[in-house]
Amino acid sequence: MNVTIHPQRLLEDLRQLATFGRAGPDDHPGIHRPSLSPQDMTSRHWLVERMTDAGLDARIDGIGNVVGRSKHLGPALLIGSHTDSQPRGGWLDGSLGVVYGLEIVRALHESQPSLNLPIDVVSFIDEEGTFIGSLGSLSFCNQITSLEVGDATNQQTGQPLNEAITEAGLLGIDLTRLEPDRHMAYLEAHIEQGNILESEGSRIGVVSTIVGIRNFDIRFEGKVNHAGTTPMNLRKDAGSSLINFAYELNKTLQPIAGPNTVWTIGRVNFDPGATSVIPGHADLTLQFRDPALEVLDRFERQVEELVATANRTGPVHVSLHPSSAIKPSAMDKNLQNHLVAAAQIHAPGAWKHMPSAAGHDAMTLADQLPCAMLFVPSIGGISHDYAEDTKEADIILGCEILATAAASILQSTSRLKR
Ligand SMILES: [Zn+2]
Repeated sequence: MNVTIHPQRLLEDLRQLATFGRAGPDDHPGIHRPSLSPQDMTSRHWLVERMTDAGLDARIDGIGNVVGRSKHLGPALLIGSHTDSQPRGGWLDGSLGVVYGLEIVRALHESQPSLNLPIDVVSFIDEEGTFIGSLGSLSFCNQITSLEVGDATNQQTGQPLNEAITEAGLLGIDLTRLEPDRHMAYLEAHIEQGNILESEGSRIGVVSTIVGIRNFDIRFEGKVNHAGTTPMNLRKDAGSSLINFAYELNKTLQPIAGPNTVWTIGRVNFDPGATSVIPGHADLTLQFRDPALEVLDRFERQVEELVATANRTGPVHVSLHPSSAIKPSAMDKNLQNHLVAAAQIHAPGAWKHMPSAAGHDAMTLADQLPCAMLFVPSIGGISHDYAEDTKEADIILGCEILATAAASILQSTSRLKR
């Protein structure tokens, strides 16, 4: 089925959305639009207007999610992403997927008005974690309690989430939930935020899996002492033990990594952290990501072995504390096939299957219903920065492919219904 999107309208909406919270250099501005901030709320009211103009029943719910519900009967396809941003973020992160949903609703209506194909569009609040990462999709999937909401605070300013909700005028408004009888699948388009597509000359990524993430705190307990008077052989230096451990870690993880594994020592801390004091305590954070559970398990076993070895050889005690874990989320094979077929029509040979190394709202939804994600290239692989950008032609192509796929998914479902 032919769906004709309106490229100029798509780009204008994206540019308009980028005016809310515009920040950064004049020659290449980005946005600073933290969840529930005044600029974020203005953008949400604008989005409700745009959705309403597109024929959707749209509103902001009690946590800040903007949901535009099609007036057509289900089963409906849910398309969206998020429109909050990182501090000093880029103009396309999240916004792209939401505006795609809006444009696809309009394009389907104009191209095939008689088919009444139902698409609901959503902008989830706080994917970027100003308060709680993926707050909006967790709320939508009923996976967060009012207690957790009550405990949450703005990680930059300390403002309680409930206070921000009240200030945003959302107190007492109902929450919108996933409707299992209505929502049959979720599609999310996003910028890649890396440089795989660009470096390989591909224009579209069909996401196979969103990577799993495991985080650990590793603690080294030695003995504080004078850095001048304590001979080397009598030291229990937590700092140098940490450095040796980190070196061994990088050396032994390398050969057991998969093609997509990444790992990061993101933070180290020496205590007391003074020039003339042997550190008594030292801590590091370790994170690794991979699309395959086996690789994550293999990495975890390797880290456990290294900790055991360090404790056998001493002189410092090492302990491993898993702090959080997210399992890999496989994208639905059937939906991927629709995306691939659409990519073959609009960009034959210029697409590839790839994992997503970043987390997305689709991760939350994948536990509830079939999900798929589409990536467009990020220029220079840059994201979470004012400089984030994607070529106009790629922005348009991504929307064309998602529109074609959405139509074919809805049509194959309505055929099944008959
Ligand atoms: Zn994002």
